[in-house]
Amino acid sequence: MTELIAVTKAAVRAAHWHSDQRRKGAAQEPYVNHLLEVAGLVAEATGGEDLNLVIAALLHDSVEDQERTRAEIAAEFGEDVAALVMEVTDDKTLPKAERKALQIHNAPHKSARAAILKLADKTSNLTALALSPPAGWSMQRRADYVQWARDVVAGLPSDNAFLHRRFAEAVAKAERSAV
Ligand code: ZN
Repeated sequence: MTELIAVTKAAVRAAHWHSDQRRKGAAQEPYVNHLLEVAGLVAEATGGEDLNLVIAALLHDSVEDQERTRAEIAAEFGEDVAALVMEVTDDKTLPKAERKALQIHNAPHKSARAAILKLADKTSNLTALALSPPAGWSMQRRADYVQWARDVVAGLPSDNAFLHRRFAEAVAKAERSAV
């Protein structure tokens, strides 16, 4: 499978798997916009040198949000992609507050590649929060979300300068919109 075929195949899978899902923001963007944004950030952050990480970015919410399985991803895209997706998947059997605390707690133990994916994910989420906050979120709730994202990112073992710059820009935008 050439790289281009693999990545477009993953994009098509992502679009189908998340076809009924919308972002939480008031604009209700199709969820695939988020997946493409994260994949684009990962591709740029790695200079286009890590195909499997870009594929994992496209599929990173498919187990958590769409109940796809690790085995299904491994069968189609290989073990490396499946392992990366699982590394950024929360355990949805746990209450939300616990999952959020665990993300902070587990951040330092991520692999360098998963750390890049998580950094891109948080960057995309904060950019969306700034541009189109969820209806009904108070300023305090927005500010708390920004702080939580910063706490997760602070623990990640990645010094990727491009992503840290993009994350800082997203934080600044989100903080400006939350006052
Ligand atoms: Zn995500």
